[in-house]
Amino acid sequence: MTTPFGPSYVRAIAPYVAGKPISEVAREFGLNEASIVKLASNENPLGMPESAQRAVAQAARELGRYPDSNAFELKAALSERYDVPAEWVTLGNGSNDILEIAAHALVEKGESIVYSQYSFAVYALAAQGLGARAIVVPAVRHGHDLEAMLSAITADTRLVFVANPNNPTGTFIEGPALEAFLDKVPRHVVVVLDEAYTEYLPAGKRYDSIAWVRRYPNLLVSRTFSKAFGLAGLRVGFGIAQPELTDLLNRLRQPFNVNTLAQAAAVAALQDTAFLEKSAALNAQGYRRLTEGLDKLGLEYVPSYGNFVLVRVGTDGEAGNRVNLSLLRQGVIVRPVGSYGLPQWLRVTVGLPEENEAFLAALEKALAA
Ligand code: PMP
Repeated sequence: MTTPFGPSYVRAIAPYVAGKPISEVAREFGLNEASIVKLASNENPLGMPESAQRAVAQAARELGRYPDSNAFELKAALSERYDVPAEWVTLGNGSNDILEIAAHALVEKGESIVYSQYSFAVYALAAQGLGARAIVVPAVRHGHDLEAMLSAITADTRLVFVANPNNPTGTFIEGPALEAFLDKVPRHVVVVLDEAYTEYLPAGKRYDSIAWVRRYPNLLVSRTFSKAFGLAGLRVGFGIAQPELTDLLNRLRQPFNVNTLAQAAAVAALQDTAFLEKSAALNAQGYRRLTEGLDKLGLEYVPSYGNFVLVRVGTDGEAGNRVNLSLLRQGVIVRPVGSYGLPQWLRVTVGLPEENEAFLAALEKALAA
């Protein structure tokens, strides 16, 4: 027998399962692409803002050259928007990149990373890819148990991931609770506060995590342009942290990890506050409609602060897959979450009004089958 390639901890990784693309479902189920509704990847149902489309068309003329490795304009725009020096910003190929870079920059093989059960899949992947020890803290009501996460930190813990709101459950930790947590985390441990959905929070739930970055040198706030800003396909995310941490991350960052089109689109999207407001309002309205529909069907769901909702579609271990298959046959793509240990649940992204109706109608049929 020959020796297999690569370390055993890499061979043990179960690859990330992304939302099924529309074209794939059309091929597999013999459906017309135009009739398919995709509510599987927490994308913005409004698509990319027109302001960003125009910026991309303009920037497309410069694609013979490398991107600006230091992304001067985008960092300047972020710096102004979030009131931090540009030296506090790390750019990523999506915020996924920020999460990976942080893990690689801070954790050695054998050291530990703490995160919650039912939190974003990439935390586990980042830990596994490094041969780090994952300390997975049991969730409470599908959300983070911050007290237990604090107690789980050991001398070899280098990183704690906290998603707020969390994906795939949509749970939310109130600002004061998070702040109290940050206050107690030992200073040798970096906290990555993953705020991919923060722009969807209602005014009453907002908190100022950037102010915390000024106070805590061990805090990295991670944000993305993929959700409310509508740029998922371009891949832009960013981290905000004090210079010591940011400097470390930038040593590992690929020099051209955010491409020219993405940089231009992100600058435009950041300034397009009307689009952001419209996206948040559409989401709030769609969430109300979806949950009304789920209530009518008598289904349990986890109250969500993101642009998606986790719903329990049955009580047996095959329920999620079974209902998912029926939805796919009807041309509706949602996200099964069996890989998260939630085989009775499906995660559905809030869509346009007609997409939400199509999902609810398909779900009713799937449950009746
Ligand atoms: N964090 C969370 C909590 C997410 O749900 C996602 C997207 N699924 C990401 C990070 C990564 O998104 P992106 O790389 O597109 O910024």
